[in-house]
Amino acid sequence: MAGDLPTLPPLRDVIRQHDLQARKSLGQNFLLDQNLTRRIARAAGPLEGATVVEVGPGPGGLTRALLIEGASRVIAVEKDPRCVAALAELAQAFPGRLEVIEGDATRLQVEERLGPGPARIVANLPYNVGTLLLVNWLSSERWPSWWDSLTLMFQKEVALRLVASPGSKDYGRLSVLAQWRSRPGILFDVDRRAFTPPPKITSSVVQIRPGEMPAGVEPTALAAVTAAAFGQRRKMLRSSLKSATPDAERILETAGIPPTARAEEVDVSGFLRLTRAYQALRGPK
Ligand code: SAM
Repeated sequence: MAGDLPTLPPLRDVIRQHDLQARKSLGQNFLLDQNLTRRIARAAGPLEGATVVEVGPGPGGLTRALLIEGASRVIAVEKDPRCVAALAELAQAFPGRLEVIEGDATRLQVEERLGPGPARIVANLPYNVGTLLLVNWLSSERWPSWWDSLTLMFQKEVALRLVASPGSKDYGRLSVLAQWRSRPGILFDVDRRAFTPPPKITSSVVQIRPGEMPAGVEPTALAAVTAAAFGQRRKMLRSSLKSATPDAERILETAGIPPTARAEEVDVSGFLRLTRAYQALRGPK
């Protein structure tokens, strides 16, 4: 591709011209190092023939890397109108390949806009809504999911929670939601100084691929059971699960889990058994 690449202005010039001082309220920590953004784009690949959904393109550093690395189309959702204006120039440089939607990614459905070919979600997520977006993508009723992979920048502490095993301090609701029918992995860490402005802590690039859907488990029921169990993680399950069901002891017995166990001791398959027992007692929706 390198031969037909358009000449693009340095990102610092884009930021200056469009007056894009970072706003904390929008979780703005920009990546300006093209070696790093291209590394993230390559990690999300192969991108040829793929549509990439990017949340929060900001001044467009990762966006241009995705286009340079060969994404057929990028659909970028950005809440900050200042950035949307800056991205219009990038769209002109890659005709027909970049669609910028101004809006709040937590409220938008982009699935209908996808064409044929794989769909990959790639983002340096705004910290304030990153976990909410991830939980939405992981909890989709439709499975296999509309996305073929998620390649996402998170604070390292969130990344560790996604891949954590039972019994570790990082194991929690997010671990179960990320692992019950998907496979998460940490690709590499990114030093805080790689961002403008630098956040307080190290970040990690995470990749999640969809896996098999376990039989007989409704995502909303699993969400209810894990919310109750980890909502009071220090309590025994016979007590914490009462916020989801009056039959806590019975569902624990059916699932073969001691009533005195705590949420952090139960592995993913244990949560699936608990959810099936919860659904059976609750009856059809
Ligand atoms: N992708 C750019 C980069 O790597 O330099 C910017 C990443 S910055 C961490 C997060 C971006 O998400 C910002 O541009 C911010 O304006 C945008 N953003 C924040 N909340 C959003 C939301 N709810 N929906 C869409 N974009 C959002």
